[in-house]
Order: sequence, then structure tokens, then C-alpha cells
Amino acid sequence: MSPATAPQPLPVVDDVDTGGFFAAAARGELAIRMCNGCDSVLHVPVAYCYRCGSWDTRWQTVAGTGRLYSWTVVTHQVHPAYPVPYTIVLVELDDHPEARLVGQLPGRPELEAGQPMEVWFERVSDDVVLPQWRPGQALRP
Ligand SMILES: [Zn+2]
Repeated sequence: MSPATAPQPLPVVDDVDTGGFFAAAARGELAIRMCNGCDSVLHVPVAYCYRCGSWDTRWQTVAGTGRLYSWTVVTHQVHPAYPVPYTIVLVELDDHPEARLVGQLPGRPELEAGQPMEVWFERVSDDVVLPQWRPGQALRP
């Protein structure tokens, strides 16, 4: 099997803690888990609020825009499905800056900390859609 055709490892999309994230992505929406008791962002997603102790949580659709918080260029290939170089980005959401999400850009793009980013949705299999990030426009000035 050539490196370019190796199957991409897929996430479990029906997990009790994280399934809502992937269900939203399949609808073309970005969602984060929040507490109904104290309105805290629960990211990475969990069913229990570590701030107020509530088990009452929800999946909140968010705008899908943010700022580039950090990134790294990967030059050492660790899996045949991911030819190098590529860039892993960490994006801070505009409407919930306490949540930072990960994405992947091809190659070595010119990036600047704080630049606007926007989500897009990559269908990687019949059952899996992944939110990804690319340079774009942000809600925050
Ligand atoms: Zn809470």
C-alpha cells in the first residue's frame, strides 16, 4: 500500500462523551459541550461538569470562527495516511475562547498567531465528518 492511499484512522463517533461533536459535524455544524447548571464550557467533552458538579449538559452549536492560538509543522511522518509536511493548528473559538480545537492544514502555510480561522467539514468516510480549520474571517474584531 502506498503512503498516499493508506486508510485514515477514524475516531469513534458514537462515544457517550464525544458523540454529539461528531453528530453535529455530520450536520455541518460545530458544537461544544456545555453545562446547563453553570454554563461552563466542558472541553474536552465530558458528561459531568467539573466546576459545579452537574450531570445536566448540552451540545451547543457555535459560530465556527476563531483565532489561531498555536500551530506546529509536522515533518516526521508518523502514519502512512498523513504525508508530510502538514501543519497542526490549535484554534480558539470566537464565541467561547476557553475552547480550543485542533485541525490540520496541508503543507507549511504562512500563519500568524491570532489570525482569523474558520471551520469547514471534511467527510472522511460514510459515517465520519471531521471539523477542520482554515484561514478565514473571525467574528471578533
Ligand atoms: Zn456546571
